[in-house]
Amino acid sequence: MAGEDEGPAIGIDLGTTYSCVAVWQHDRVEIIPNDQGNRTTPSYVAFTDTERLVGDAAKNQVAMNPVNTVFDAKRLIGRKFSDPCVESDMKFWPFKIIPDYPTDKPMILVSYKGKEKKFAAEEISSMVLTKMKEIAEAYLGSTVKNAVITVPAYFNDSQRQATRDAGLIAGLNVLRIIVEPTAAAIAYGLNKMSDIKGKKKNVLIFDLGGGTFDVSLLNIEEGIFEVKAISGDTHLGGEDIDNRMVNHFVQEFKRKHNDKDISGNLRALRRLRTACERAKRAFSSAAQASIEIDGLFEGIDFQSTITRPKFEEMNMDLFRKCIELVEDCLRDAKMDKSNVHDVVLVGGSTRILKVQQLLQEFFNGKKLCKSINQDEAIAHGAAVQAAILGGKGSEKVQDIVLADVTPLSLGVHTMGEVMTVLIPRNTPIPTKKEKVFNTTVDNQTVAGIQVFEGERARSKDNNLLGTFELRDIPAAPKRVARINICFDIDANGILNASAELISTGQKNKITIACDKGRLSKEEIERMIEEAKRYKFEDEQYRNKVKAKIALEDYAYSVKNSLNDKKINAGLPLADKKKIEDAIEQSLQWLQMNQLAEANEFEDKMKELESIWNPIIADIYRPGADGGWDRMRGDTPYTASASSSGGTGSKIDEVD
Ligand code: AMP
Repeated sequence: MAGEDEGPAIGIDLGTTYSCVAVWQHDRVEIIPNDQGNRTTPSYVAFTDTERLVGDAAKNQVAMNPVNTVFDAKRLIGRKFSDPCVESDMKFWPFKIIPDYPTDKPMILVSYKGKEKKFAAEEISSMVLTKMKEIAEAYLGSTVKNAVITVPAYFNDSQRQATRDAGLIAGLNVLRIIVEPTAAAIAYGLNKMSDIKGKKKNVLIFDLGGGTFDVSLLNIEEGIFEVKAISGDTHLGGEDIDNRMVNHFVQEFKRKHNDKDISGNLRALRRLRTACERAKRAFSSAAQASIEIDGLFEGIDFQSTITRPKFEEMNMDLFRKCIELVEDCLRDAKMDKSNVHDVVLVGGSTRILKVQQLLQEFFNGKKLCKSINQDEAIAHGAAVQAAILGGKGSEKVQDIVLADVTPLSLGVHTMGEVMTVLIPRNTPIPTKKEKVFNTTVDNQTVAGIQVFEGERARSKDNNLLGTFELRDIPAAPKRVARINICFDIDANGILNASAELISTGQKNKITIACDKGRLSKEEIERMIEEAKRYKFEDEQYRNKVKAKIALEDYAYSVKNSLNDKKINAGLPLADKKKIEDAIEQSLQWLQMNQLAEANEFEDKMKELESIWNPIIADIYRPGADGGWDRMRGDTPYTASASSSGGTGSKIDEVD
């Protein structure tokens, strides 16, 4: 549990395309808006010749800098380069991925400040998490240390560990990693003791986002969230729905304009996609939407309309697929739909009315839980959990209880190539299980222990998490030496495996090496240091831009003041020439020295001030009554854009 003096604990929904941060404050959950006023922040990081950008700023420049703008890090985290999922996802990314040798970790290759740089997915995610931490700190006015971070229910141990590492690199103390459906259920208060005492609740979480669709069936009983079954599609979401509409209009453009094909023109396609996404959102309240794009292709303007029934018809197979996946999930859980108590909507694409209608019909008219903003439900639940773990929750959350479960069975490789399970799937965590094994050949002195996760009988069909050895076993006939293997899973779902030789009374204990693509302690420490350096460099760059703009702003404001009739009237010609030359020189210097350091801009500003201040002071000389005599002008143009800050809004916008 977090200490009282460590500030509020936050909940972070680290999403594939968007992330969201929330906090428990004033007896309720508050979703924290970012510096742009947006309640969700793109999980994008961009690298340029001069700076690093995270969030909206990164996403906004993606068209200009596609190869160095990284997104979808969540699809890579905790996976190996040789993973078939990585192989297929890579085809759609404009940025480059290479394997690290010998770990086989996928590394993202970008150009940053003119140099080639390699980043692990954990580092990219840590940059997004740092941004979310900073958003929270700016809102709360205090430092934030503790956080609960969410992951999809299908994330394995390695992916959860890697997400935790990303949190560490971001300087966060990760109180707990919880799964997204659990967080969504908490958001709806479906785990209130008062409601569930002595009862079982079955909750279906229907999460349709921008790129993925996840269905989870949870069973909540006495605070234990058992993920009964999960199903979904890692490439089904709002983007596929947008693509359908884009293709429709590409064909329409062809028909209307002599077979002209815009599909090879990336810029035109991007503009069309943006317009289609807007039209799609409009269908949540309107029955018809229009598309208007000036000069879409070869100077031709494009205008069209589309009705909601047409939109629904062109996507009906995708919507039906969602319902089929719900059926799969129920079938896996061996549950009849009439036994589902609540159906919870999560993800922006669940705002599509047809999706809601089909789902409601499937559940025989059951009212869907959608009172919480679909984009925010997961962060909302994470914030409630963070408040409880951080000791900051009020009475309102006191009766909310929560226990997580293992998403997959965990076991060891044994004779006959089979996986012997120590901890079955859906065991509430934290948990500790032990099992005794013995040697299989005479005089065996080394026992190799391979830890697997998965539901298949044969080890090789499951997922190898790591291996370690127990050495120096005294020579003995087979089956004599006995080894006690212990699996210990902490509250974050992180596994420690150990083995102990017990047949001779001699004890030997080993903890599993984290060799499954996980970062070593040294690597994490190095990345923490680098993250600090990047932060420092970002700040330096921001200061530089601030100082540059302050100088430019000052030069122009003085120049403008020369056009002021009253000032002009009182300005001696020699002074006028002097200041005009100085302004011209400053502006020329700015043109030539865009990449100068902050102190150089500040020095230039002081130079200009030292010329202008005495001139303007002379115009505004003190009056007889001790006040300022505004003889020659109305507004004193002293150093209003001072070297320390500038005139405010313009400079702030650069951030
Ligand atoms: P998420 O990944 O949960 O943030 O969901 C993002 C997706 O939701 C994007 O594809 C959006 O286009 C989609 N979305 C947001 N609002 C709406 C809406 N009103 N109707 C349809 N899709 C929406």
